[in-house]
Amino acid sequence: MEFYKKFLPAEGILVAVSKTKPVEIIYQAYHCGHRDFGENKVQELRDKQPVLPDDIHWHMIGHLQRNKVKYIAPFIWLIHSVDNEKLLREIDKHARKHRRIIPFLFQIKIASEETKFGLTEPDYRQLLAKYKQGEFPHTKLKGLMGMATNTNNTAQVDAEFAYLKSLFDELKTEISSAEYLSMGMTHDFEIALKNGANIIRIGSGIFGARN
Ligand SMILES: *Cc1c(COP(=O)(O)O)cnc(C)c1O
Repeated sequence: MEFYKKFLPAEGILVAVSKTKPVEIIYQAYHCGHRDFGENKVQELRDKQPVLPDDIHWHMIGHLQRNKVKYIAPFIWLIHSVDNEKLLREIDKHARKHRRIIPFLFQIKIASEETKFGLTEPDYRQLLAKYKQGEFPHTKLKGLMGMATNTNNTAQVDAEFAYLKSLFDELKTEISSAEYLSMGMTHDFEIALKNGANIIRIGSGIFGARN
């Protein structure tokens, strides 16, 4: 874990991606002082959150279905994967119910693969305009997230991250709460950091390969 932290900027966050890993393993990392953990499935968050310490910052990094927002709304620390308007409306609704403000990132589609989720740039701009008009008062936009194409072509990954960074720089001039650029995983975090990432999401590099 220290290995990754030393590359991060001062206010950066290392999200330890604990998906598929048992709570015992998370607890070990917690005891070493780590507080930020990422999961990509609501069910795993629901299972793990109640049995682990309350001061953990839980990050939802995977695709989020609207009908499951209610399960994580009481405790989620940051949702990285807001990729459509209906989802953001649902988050806003449940945040209100729980009398809290839920922080989130817009996930932008930067990869060339069809399978990767995320907003296209025009859809992002449309939704951002609605956010700025105050349509989601119980949410707070904290920045952007993206996943690069899974390829050995580092020039392509570099270009995709640079593109997201340019959107982020623009966003920061308009939204004062936009402080996080979440990009980079075990195999591409160095390229992400070079392009200005201040949240990296590392799973296998910390916990070992998943089955
Ligand atoms: C699993 C996952 C990661 C971490 O992947 P590793 O290659 O294990 O570091 C990062 N981001 C998202 C969205 C993931 O689903």
